[in-house]
Amino acid sequence: MTHIAVDGCLFCQIVAHKVSANVIRETAWTMTFTDISPQAPVHVLVITKDHYANLEDLSGEDPGLLGTLMAEVAVVADDQGLGEDGYRVVINTGEEGGQTVEHVHAHVLGGRAMTWPPG
Ligand code: 5GP
Ligand code: ZN
Repeated sequence: MTHIAVDGCLFCQIVAHKVSANVIRETAWTMTFTDISPQAPVHVLVITKDHYANLEDLSGEDPGLLGTLMAEVAVVADDQGLGEDGYRVVINTGEEGGQTVEHVHAHVLGGRAMTWPPG
């Protein structure tokens, strides 16, 4: 299946297997791999295979896929054994949101107690 891709996008390159990643789960529409710089004992990124720059674009252009992404987040969290103790889901969006990779992704963090407020 072909997916919407943008040249030079790191996560599109991971989807296309041109850049390697520790992929732990894949569906027709999503890919999940470990974060290269983990901030918790479990820190994985769940991305859409189609390129949308951020949550704003994804929710505007394909809200159904956003639902698919979030459903996959919960499956991944359960798979990682986080369902009972809990976990945090973060979608950094835009400059002030702290987004550094412009391909929409949900961070799933767990395996330790999270603090609030976030930085
Ligand atoms: P953001 O800052 O956009 O919310 O999240 C981007 C995440 O991607 C960061 O947590 C960062 O550690 C991770 N990341 C950046 N480059 C790579 C990479 O090449 N491989 C993997 N697996 N993660 C990456
Ligand atoms: Zn991309």
